[in-house]
Amino acid sequence: MKITDIFARSKRTFSFEFFPPKDEISAVDFGINVGQLLKLNPSFVSVTYGAGGSTQQRTFALVDYLQNKIGLNTMAHYTCIGSSRERVNADMTYLQQIGIENVMLLRGDPPKGDAGFSMADNAFRYANELISFVRNNHYGFAVGAGANPEKHPEAPDMDTYLHNLKRKCEAGADFLITQLFFSNDAYHSFVQQIRNMGISCRVIPGIIPLTGYKQIRRFVDMASTTFPAELLEKMERYRDNPDKAYQAGLDHAIGQCTQLLEQGAPGIHFYTLNKSRAAVELFESLPTAFRM
Ligand SMILES: Cc1cc2nc3c(=O)[nH]c(=O)nc-3n(C[C@H](O)[C@H](O)[C@H](O)COP(=O)(O)OP(=O)(O)OC[C@H]3O[C@@H](n4cnc5c(N)ncnc54)[C@H](O)[C@@H]3O)c2cc1C
Repeated sequence: MKITDIFARSKRTFSFEFFPPKDEISAVDFGINVGQLLKLNPSFVSVTYGAGGSTQQRTFALVDYLQNKIGLNTMAHYTCIGSSRERVNADMTYLQQIGIENVMLLRGDPPKGDAGFSMADNAFRYANELISFVRNNHYGFAVGAGANPEKHPEAPDMDTYLHNLKRKCEAGADFLITQLFFSNDAYHSFVQQIRNMGISCRVIPGIIPLTGYKQIRRFVDMASTTFPAELLEKMERYRDNPDKAYQAGLDHAIGQCTQLLEQGAPGIHFYTLNKSRAAVELFESLPTAFRM
């Protein structure tokens, strides 16, 4: 089913994001974790697409499996950086042929450390160009696009970023899913700003339950997102106590999601990192009224 049709029936959606497992052992682990998450009856699931060639075929194999063997509403992420129009057309046609109805269309990033990386002659430069192409070719997908509530790191300022984001909506994105964030104020202010610009589509918050000291440290070091000092301080305190660190991270995520839903967010997109425990506990801790 198209995600836009799910929107027509449901005020909120709850979705889980996975990445393709890299080897046989990860695949077994993935199966166990997905099995737990399926019990929660997600509105849809999504599978990331590795820019630069690492996991592209695995993404297609996994979306085919989840959509056609498991019967989940599945969204394929797709990045265009470096790809020719012919390649994008072939990939979109393939996804259409295997029955995928939802795509998350992104620019992607050049592969890290690949000094020789070059764009194909007629490649898309930005996600709005990819979205226009997919819309104009009538593959019939519901189209999602990415949004950074605290601005994309490359954008010089928020106004420029919002202007570029609007191009994606005008090109035909049906909904936005945000990059992970930890400050709800950033999300609410972002939604307010884009509403003022006339963007009316759903903006689904992307949330990650961070439940370990090292994991949090990694995100703080690399993420271009505001990190709550009190959570960081708790994690420092519990750095040698994984159980307490887990609970502190989970409690933070429960508080964050509950407040987002209370203030009208249209559901939650969970970044699962292919693990189920925190995502299941988080989902089950949300007020029942919002989970319907
Ligand atoms: C929900 C979500 C899922 C993601 N999934 C994946 C995934 O599966 N695989 C993956 O590799 N990455 C993924 N990403 C990361 C994404 O690829 C990166 O954030 C990437 O750097 C930007 O992608 P974008 O689609 O937001 O780019 P764009 O919207 O093209 O924006 C990129 C930058 O270019 C600027 N810009 C945009 N349009 C124009 C224009 N027309 N003219 C001038 N400047 C412009 C913007 O301001 C921004 O700074 C995901 C991100 C999100 C939020």
